[in-house]
Amino acid sequence: MTVRVRFAPSPTGHLHIGSVRTALFNFLFARHHGGQFILRLEDTDTNRNVEGADIQFLDGFRWLGIKWDEGFDVGGPYTPYRCMERLDIYRQYIDRLLREGKAYPCFCTDDDLAAERNQAEREGRIPRYSGRCRHLPEALRESRMASGEPYSIRFIVEPGRELVVHDLIRGDVSFQSDDIGDFVIVKSNGIPTYNFQVVIDDIEMHITHVIRAEEHLSNTPRQLLVYEAFGATPPAFAHLPIVLDEQRKKLSKRDPNVLPIATYQSLGYLPEAFINFLALLGWSPGGEQELFTVDELCRLFDLDRVGKSGA
Ligand code: GLU
Repeated sequence: MTVRVRFAPSPTGHLHIGSVRTALFNFLFARHHGGQFILRLEDTDTNRNVEGADIQFLDGFRWLGIKWDEGFDVGGPYTPYRCMERLDIYRQYIDRLLREGKAYPCFCTDDDLAAERNQAEREGRIPRYSGRCRHLPEALRESRMASGEPYSIRFIVEPGRELVVHDLIRGDVSFQSDDIGDFVIVKSNGIPTYNFQVVIDDIEMHITHVIRAEEHLSNTPRQLLVYEAFGATPPAFAHLPIVLDEQRKKLSKRDPNVLPIATYQSLGYLPEAFINFLALLGWSPGGEQELFTVDELCRLFDLDRVGKSGA
């Protein structure tokens, strides 16, 4: 099996140390295992996309010498690599779920959903969708769709299931399907949500290992359910401990105080030194050595020496 990993940023802000560290670990893992590293642009959250962010990612990686084999600038066998250019692919998967009764149109408005959430909070329950549109009579559903009423599409989550993520860094992490509830996979504007799009792309692009920030661990049970619905084998997952700032707060690409990588470049930092520093954020090869070339890092890097706590 050829290892295939990807870095899949949303272009919603600048490239910062946390994201580059995730990209670097993917790159090193691919090189260590003689595999491929793919760069995909997850640009489906169209309201939050920032103009030029995609170019910044490419420039930052080029400066640092992080090389990719397929990506949204060079293409590859699974072109396109920009999610907004892949909507026809997602549509085929969505149609299949609808045909098989694994998803349904939901006509609930933001107000309906807010009312459900408020009620759950008043009753001290975890807010989750009641599933009321799932039980609409077929004829009514058809006529509402035909009338042009806006609707999203929800994925059916059966209650009472334990969903276990086998994580290469954290071990087995268990979630309850009761806490999830039927979730939206296509928004009313017709664009798929992250939890659906990411699975389809990882299936289509034959990704074997998903190495990403820990903040996505709680999304993984939803994604496992989508793999299951298509009878697809999920990749191995590794959720990296987050990179923290001096106040032990998570770095955000929308925070103006978190420096973009380009700033370090203009301050004259050396890319090799920067890579060395990033590689040791949450990973250690053991021993006393502190300075490594990129070739040495590729040879030494593996996930078994990635730590569990924030870096
Ligand atoms: N697009 C996601 C982000 O920028 C990455 C998701 C993933 O790696 O699965 O956080």
